Amino acid sequence: MSSDMHWTTRSARAGLRSLANFVWPQRSIISGERHGGDAPLTPEDFGRVNFLNGAGCRRCGAPMEVDLGSDTICGACTAKAPAWDQARAAIAYDDASRQSILELKHAGRRDGLDTMATWMALAGRDILPETDWLVPVPLHYQRLASRGFNQSAWLAQGVSRKTGTLALVDALSRKRNTPSQGGLTARQRRRNVAGAFEVRKSRQGRIKGSAVTLVDDVLTTGATLAACTKALKRAGAARVNVLVLARVVREADVTI
Ligand SMILES: [Zn+2]
Repeated sequence: MSSDMHWTTRSARAGLRSLANFVWPQRSIISGERHGGDAPLTPEDFGRVNFLNGAGCRRCGAPMEVDLGSDTICGACTAKAPAWDQARAAIAYDDASRQSILELKHAGRRDGLDTMATWMALAGRDILPETDWLVPVPLHYQRLASRGFNQSAWLAQGVSRKTGTLALVDALSRKRNTPSQGGLTARQRRRNVAGAFEVRKSRQGRIKGSAVTLVDDVLTTGATLAACTKALKRAGAARVNVLVLARVVREADVTI
């Protein structure tokens, strides 16, 4: 009896939700404004997104003015190479994209996921064919329990659906519930996440000798992605690349 009621309530809710989507128009993931089209953003909003699919540093994904092909490396990576092998970013993390990413991360807004995954699949088109596993940056289980979802796992699954590359969403675990990286300096961020990740014992056999592409929503200083890379390489990953939706672009990264 009670399970029947539960089922009825659930299907009624699902019905109301689809009715709501039908009655109220889409809200743009970029401007937040409602519009009549089917897509999660208007052509005008699309024009505001800063795509990073031009010349870029092969190691960190920073946009650059000169394209030297597969040898394009920025000054920062020449001075100190990142822990991972190569990185690709789909869009710049800026005034245009910030709202869409915060809504994905904190409110669990999913209607832009398919579009975001397409952008990431395009940005990673040269590294994804050689990828064995897409592995998202994990949340600590306590944060996962309170938030209810991991936006990086959603993005990894989205890219997997677009490209057929397999996702191993539980390969990494976060051992410590580290404080948020917000407001910390680059050095503090590195210290905050150092040694915070490990490859789950049950997944070590799959990671050993494999080519992994780590997936995250935003690359800021790269401290979290570097800590995850080290954990994967400790477990024997042959190659670790990085694919993010958005990247913070600083003036210092643009010089070569
Ligand atoms: Zn670089």
